[in-house]
Amino acid sequence: MTNKTPKAIFLDRDGTLIRDKNYLSRPEDIEYFPDTFTALTLMQAKGYRLYVITNQSGVGRGFFPIEAVYSVHAAMDADMSAHKLEPFEGWGVCPHSPDEACTCRKPHAQLIEDFMQRDGLDAKHCWMLGDKGIDAQCGLNAGIKGAVVREKSAAADFVFFATLLEFAQTLP
Ligand SMILES: [Mg+2]
Ligand SMILES: [Zn+2]
Repeated sequence: MTNKTPKAIFLDRDGTLIRDKNYLSRPEDIEYFPDTFTALTLMQAKGYRLYVITNQSGVGRGFFPIEAVYSVHAAMDADMSAHKLEPFEGWGVCPHSPDEACTCRKPHAQLIEDFMQRDGLDAKHCWMLGDKGIDAQCGLNAGIKGAVVREKSAAADFVFFATLLEFAQTLP
């Protein structure tokens, strides 16, 4: 990346960047929202580094192997490039099922904290966004800002934005 700033947006995958297909595991099932790439372009134009933080319990539940997750993410990386975007700076994946009591499954903050430390990010300029309350809570647990996008019903206790683009437009 050309401008390594300490500002970052951590994004949920399913229901936020792409439509939630309920245990999606094949690249051909990826379906972006109409504003996904416009919003990501604006975020990067404003100097934010982009990361994805995703719970993929389908692995831990035995529905699909971790390699399937990687193939989906490789396809999304290629789509970023096709839209002239910088690549995601990190893919944070929790492959565990809820009963494994790991420290990486959202709303646990481990994945965000690891990237914050690795890349020297500034908590004052970082957000975690997703379509569920656990996404916003994950951000708060990591000491950064958290918000819910797209799903108003999940936003009871959190800042809410109707779309990713609306969020990107409000960023300083
Ligand atoms: Mg989601
Ligand atoms: Zn985990």
